[in-house]
Amino acid sequence: MDLEKHIRNVPDFPKPGIQFKDVTTLCKNYSAFKESCDKIIKHYKKKGIEKVAAIEARGYVWGGVIAYQLGAGFILMRKPGKLPANTIIETYELEYGTDSIEMHSDAIEKGEKVLIFDDLLATGGTAKAACNLVEKSGGTVEGIAFIIELTGSLHGRDKLKGYDIFTLLEIPVEE
Ligand code: AMP
Repeated sequence: MDLEKHIRNVPDFPKPGIQFKDVTTLCKNYSAFKESCDKIIKHYKKKGIEKVAAIEARGYVWGGVIAYQLGAGFILMRKPGKLPANTIIETYELEYGTDSIEMHSDAIEKGEKVLIFDDLLATGGTAKAACNLVEKSGGTVEGIAFIIELTGSLHGRDKLKGYDIFTLLEIPVEE
């Protein structure tokens, strides 16, 4: 199946110049959603993943399914102020300003093997922050999986050197 056909491009969202890759058109189609989940699960099946950490909010749609099928626990990485108990936080640079993600400080046990999941890799800042959260809690990042990798000028992979990255679709970023 051509999964890329199920990605909707929304020009100028959330601001002018951004080509937003909308994955809601992929997950609303059962066959496309199943195939996208199955490919990621197959790739990580034998890697001994103990926790899947997904990033708010689209990451959760796939993350829970992947965790369940891998026999792993599921961890929520959220925007600041949303998680109720003690958290650890990572702040990262955006083009203008900064952003942060948080995780419960007891979400990961020392030595646990963690798979990070998000819908899309752009500059890699969010995923790198997620890796830092996992490592701060003593976990090891076994892999980082995405539905879409934007290729070209953003160089997201450069920020994630040394990590195992698995992406289903490579889409050139349109300037
Ligand atoms: P980055 O930290 O630059 O790799 O950005 C990745 C995060 O921003 C992911 O959580 C994506 O959901 C979101 N994102 C960034 N650029 C886009 C885009 N063009 N289309 C859809 N989501 C995006």
